[in-house]
Amino acid sequence: MNLDAALNADLHCHSVVSDGTLTPEALAERAKAGGVQLWSLTDHDEIGGQARAIAAAAAIGLPYLTGTEISVSFAGRVVHIVGLGFDHEAQELIDGLKATRGGREPRAREMAASLAKAGIPGAFEGALQYVGNPDLISRTHFARFLVDAGHCADVPEVFRRFLTEGKPGFVPHKWAALKDAVGWITRAGGIAVIAHPGRYGFTPTEEYALITEFIGHGGRGIEVVTGSHTAAEFQQYADTAIEFGLLASRGSDFHCPEESRIDLGALPPLANRLTPVWQALQERVHHAGVAG
Ligand code: AMP
Ligand code: MN
Ligand code: MN
Ligand code: MN
Repeated sequence: MNLDAALNADLHCHSVVSDGTLTPEALAERAKAGGVQLWSLTDHDEIGGQARAIAAAAAIGLPYLTGTEISVSFAGRVVHIVGLGFDHEAQELIDGLKATRGGREPRAREMAASLAKAGIPGAFEGALQYVGNPDLISRTHFARFLVDAGHCADVPEVFRRFLTEGKPGFVPHKWAALKDAVGWITRAGGIAVIAHPGRYGFTPTEEYALITEFIGHGGRGIEVVTGSHTAAEFQQYADTAIEFGLLASRGSDFHCPEESRIDLGALPPLANRLTPVWQALQERVHHAGVAG
């Protein structure tokens, strides 16, 4: 396998095991059809779909890296850390993710209570109808309920009017610590990657703190080309990767055919000047018929 920067790697997407609408099997097919040459399923705070993704990818000859996207509280904000190429049977990672997911149900009940006060009753039960994994009720499921119940025209409108800081339905939450998330991934043999850095709205000073602390804990990668970045941010975070000596990653963050702007495999390639994260994970790639 030629693992250069031009590889059509898509190392970020979500299935019904978190807040996507497709099964791991359907995503594998869609990735293959979209020209993806190396794929990873990165469900939020959950690796329960990894065995299915490995099997589905193997069945269609699609090289695969294990993945997850961990919710982290950092400097009063939520930061997402993608993990790639870990052993999905590592107990410390399994336990850490379970603890991270644990707060979701009480949080969802508080979100529903806040929405009820704003005149939207029944949101907990409503959101639950969209949940594929009862352990992983997320804001996305509330958003789908609010759209289908006629409160908003689309999911972006929900996030503008509800569920975000200062709006009805927002509940502050304590997620995993950066040090723990990076440690769980790294000690399971994987590489930790800062997801969509352009999305956090950090000042340069805050971003510097995030990156240097992340590296201090053993983090090695950063998403450069993602569905959440503009073309200008592809350049900006390529510079950041080089400045800090980080491995570059690429992924659509695909959730749903109707909601996602970017399909699996459809992003531009990484710039040649970058070192792709998949070069450091060569040994961790699952190939058809080979346990990795
Ligand atoms: P949660 O982990 O429950 O806080 O939900 C976060 C998820 O909500 C993200 O992973 C996205 O899928 C989705 N999300 C967050 N902000 C937006 C937005 N502005 N528009 C659409 N989806 C969003
Ligand atoms: Mn999501
Ligand atoms: Mn994310
Ligand atoms: Mn994501």
